[in-house]
Amino acid sequence: MFQKILIANRGEIALRVLRAAKELGIQTVAVHSTADADAMHVRLADESVCIGPPPSRDSYLNIHQIVAACEITGADAVHPGYGFLSENAKFADILAAHNITFIGPSGDHIRIMGDKIEAKRTAKRLGIPVVPGSEGAVSDEKEAKRIAAEIGYPVIIKASAGGGGRGMKVALTEADLEIALATARSEAGAAFGDDAVYIEKYLQKPRHIEVQIFGDGAGKGVHLGERDCSLQRRHQKVWEEANSPALNAEERSRIGDICANAVANLGYSGAGTIEFLYENGEFYFIEMNTRLQVEHTITEAITGIDLVHEQIRVASGGGLSVTQNDIRFHGHAIECRINAEDPRTFVPSPGTITHFHTPGGLGIRVDSGVYSGYRIPPYYDSLIGKLIVHGRNRVECMMRLRRALDEFVVDGIKTTLPLFRELVGNPDIANGDYDIHWLEKHLAKGE
Ligand code: ADP
Repeated sequence: MFQKILIANRGEIALRVLRAAKELGIQTVAVHSTADADAMHVRLADESVCIGPPPSRDSYLNIHQIVAACEITGADAVHPGYGFLSENAKFADILAAHNITFIGPSGDHIRIMGDKIEAKRTAKRLGIPVVPGSEGAVSDEKEAKRIAAEIGYPVIIKASAGGGGRGMKVALTEADLEIALATARSEAGAAFGDDAVYIEKYLQKPRHIEVQIFGDGAGKGVHLGERDCSLQRRHQKVWEEANSPALNAEERSRIGDICANAVANLGYSGAGTIEFLYENGEFYFIEMNTRLQVEHTITEAITGIDLVHEQIRVASGGGLSVTQNDIRFHGHAIECRINAEDPRTFVPSPGTITHFHTPGGLGIRVDSGVYSGYRIPPYYDSLIGKLIVHGRNRVECMMRLRRALDEFVVDGIKTTLPLFRELVGNPDIANGDYDIHWLEKHLAKGE
């Protein structure tokens, strides 16, 4: 087991990882920018190192500073959290070259899944269902037209190097294809320095359903069920549920087994998420995230398994603590992402939190790094906390969520709490009847 883990992140996820390390009796090192000197993860860690000025590229993304912080403190492993360097293959390789363990998959696996064309090709080879479309990059308009005619309109053009929803364009008919192809290509070139694009069928009313997997790096793989993250705004998840209100037990174990076998065959090591669009009973792979996700907490709620413990165990060579047969699903869990943002316009609202009071009671978990008097710096993403609610079934979970939202107080800044109070009372949400466009349509109605 590791002696000392450096946590290359900030905010609630740094705290989340720190807690898991402490429970395992491992020393912790926090790193922070000058803007985060008084952050909770710095206060609670055994040691801390300042790694640079506020902008992420000079601190949380500064590989040299982070490696230096490992050397100074004698950390033998790094947990990257999510975001920042968590899916940076070069970072994983550099740590390996310094004999520091990256708590995550190999640089090569990160690289495969970071290239969408390569990821899709690999998924298909491993028996994962994919969206019908081009085999690889499309070279010209003629080829694009031929493929689109084959799969049928509407189609979507996507950037191979894509991320954050950029470089994607929909063509409803052949008349739109030329412009969609050209704009997707130029956006991709500008945003990622790589203008390779591919084409796939555009699904019109899908849900976003993702499967949590774990590989032990030695040919074993398990799945921990799915999460439904269909409630999104601008491709950003807002509210997540486990299990999905749309799946039955047979569909759950079918897609789960496909994913578990795929990661086993890949020789994948650590936590990962295989993301799908789901429509009319079919799953379509869109991407794989090779890291812990923000919404991992709802999987923890329904399985009782600490995913960060498992990540640390696997990375240290101790293997997984569970087999597929040990994994059972209990009840229902929902996560609300509380952002420091205007609940209607989503404009960030940094500033000082004058009063912070979190709900409590059975089935309630709040993961947050903020406190009364905390000043939210304007440099980073606006997630200030996650409310995770667990109940024996979805109805109980929703009742408890409504109560917890009533108790939650964040004064001094705007937050997305009012949006969740609205959603928890909405009949479509109560019925689990929503797709990936539901939230944006709801917001557009201005209800
Ligand atoms: P990114 O990495 O940029 O987030 P993804 O491939 O994960 O790109 O897709 C992001 C979102 O774009 C999906 O959650 C979905 O809303 C939409 N999308 C992607 N591919 C399709 C498709 N074939 N049909 C319909 N919507 C799609």
